[in-house]
Amino acid sequence: MSAAISDEEVFAHFHDVHIDRDNIAHYRGLMAGRLLINHCRDCGRWIYPHRPMCPACLSWNVAPDEVSGRGRLYMYTLLEQSRDPDAPLLRPMQVAAIELCEQPGLRYLSQVVDCPEAALRHDMPVELTWISRGGRRWPAFRPADETL
Ligand SMILES: [Zn+2]
Repeated sequence: MSAAISDEEVFAHFHDVHIDRDNIAHYRGLMAGRLLINHCRDCGRWIYPHRPMCPACLSWNVAPDEVSGRGRLYMYTLLEQSRDPDAPLLRPMQVAAIELCEQPGLRYLSQVVDCPEAALRHDMPVELTWISRGGRRWPAFRPADETL
């Protein structure tokens, strides 16, 4: 269970990520292999990027819940420029916005794997998978059947 992972372990594991009180549950979930998104307990709205207050009903009664991992590719782009001058990109890096099925407009930034770039298309169904990068587990999405 993810509650067994301490704050210190999250900070150490994601030492190069800005972890704060609004996103630590999300990163704790990643360590446990669960994709957690903040969810308003009063009106039911899913909230991403991570915020402590619901933008729909202004409630502070917000807590993370696990999403199904199903969604559709809303858009993607290819980053050509590295952010780290000491680590140039060997090839363009794909960044994709996945619209999760839980709510229209709930778009999680990730990438699509197990799919040639030429086959990527807007609105294609995708499902959550996990990739290993830099010794850590990250959420990604792969093509899925049209059964959403
Ligand atoms: Zn709300």
